Amino acid sequence: MKFEEFGLEPQLLEGLQAMGFETPTPIQEQAIPPLLEGRDILACAQTGTGKTAAFLLPIINKNIAEPNTGVDTIILEPTRELAVQVDQQLEGFSYFAGLSCMAIYGGRDGHSMNQEMKALKQGADIIVATPGRLLAHLQLGYVDLSTIRHFVLDEADRMLDMGFVTDIMTVVNKLPVERQNLLFSATMPNDIRRFAKNILRNPVEVSIAISKPAEGITQGAYLLKDSQKNQLIEYLLRRQGKARRILVFASSKKNTKELAAHLSRAGFPAADIHSDLDQKQREDTLLNFRNNSVPILVATDVLSRGIDIKGIDVVINYDVPGDPEDYVHRIGRTARADATGLAITLITPATKRKFDRIEKLTDMKVPIFPLPPEIGSSPDMNKRTGGGRGGNRSGRSGQRRKNNNYRGRNKRSGSRNKRS
Ligand code: AMP
Repeated sequence: MKFEEFGLEPQLLEGLQAMGFETPTPIQEQAIPPLLEGRDILACAQTGTGKTAAFLLPIINKNIAEPNTGVDTIILEPTRELAVQVDQQLEGFSYFAGLSCMAIYGGRDGHSMNQEMKALKQGADIIVATPGRLLAHLQLGYVDLSTIRHFVLDEADRMLDMGFVTDIMTVVNKLPVERQNLLFSATMPNDIRRFAKNILRNPVEVSIAISKPAEGITQGAYLLKDSQKNQLIEYLLRRQGKARRILVFASSKKNTKELAAHLSRAGFPAADIHSDLDQKQREDTLLNFRNNSVPILVATDVLSRGIDIKGIDVVINYDVPGDPEDYVHRIGRTARADATGLAITLITPATKRKFDRIEKLTDMKVPIFPLPPEIGSSPDMNKRTGGGRGGNRSGRSGQRRKNNNYRGRNKRSGSRNKRS
């Protein structure tokens, strides 16, 4: 099917064309028609499936067809990075529609707070916000939410994990009763369903394959000792060559910082990203990675979900993630949409059981690669993996611009104001 078949407004179709979107993904095919009819939705979809467009397009369409007078939509995101990323997609889709949009998130200076206040007071059409920052504005009393027609809760499972329930419900309780609600979550455990009942009314339920890495990802793992990890990662980076963009996940801020410093000393230009960095530092780091001036990024799970950086060739799990879902999210950073990618995990005896849980969740056996001889032999793991060099376990791999233009959009991608 084609996007034209949804009966979307011409300005929106133009935006889609400019973004290179032709064929809807399965979540878009399933979610867009009921959303255009005004139904609430409870959607289970991972990042990488096209879920952002699935919720943005019907909202933009409504705003073009029936312009609102004040703030029309609140989209809540768990992290600043996701808020910025969704806002960027929004900007692309709505470019020819001239909607006013604003990303609202913490960790910035007073100037940004003032810009956000201005956007909120003047009734920006679509606000993409982190819960804490939005609440900070709400508490100051100048935000009028009476005109809200759409409320989106993205990455709901992550929001709950991060303890945002009270903040979210405080926002929800200030919204008009008559509104369309959209809840997206990568997983759908019972606590999310219970929580959703407080927000959604008679929702359409849509579910796209849960906890399965995308088809285009080739997975592999090495069994090794902690002391062999740095040697192996250097070996892997040497083999990838300079042109490749590589995202390395470590489990703690300390490991992330140490590994990036180690790699840089060893001649592999690497940056680290984690929650100790302030917003400006995080944005600069992501920008350098996006434009390839630093081809290796070492990250904590702050980046594992949602962040969309095109053209990541390889994901390396320097540490096995504690939460099996995070594995799927981490390796999903590569092979987005139709691309292919490689995901490699370093497994130590202490993290072997965690990896077993990942294989169980994904219902996949990840092939174990033999360690290169110069790195030595693998430690004894357990019978199931055979210890030694690991052997090759084969397996399935499975604006209408209101008075103000907050963005200063002189050009498609340039001229945004000082937000980023
Ligand atoms: P998401 O799951 O929303 O994070 O989207 C993952 C990636 O797929 C993003 O880079 C989107 O821009 C891209 N994408 C989503 N839907 C489509 C589509 N229908 N055609 C082409 N690219 C898409």
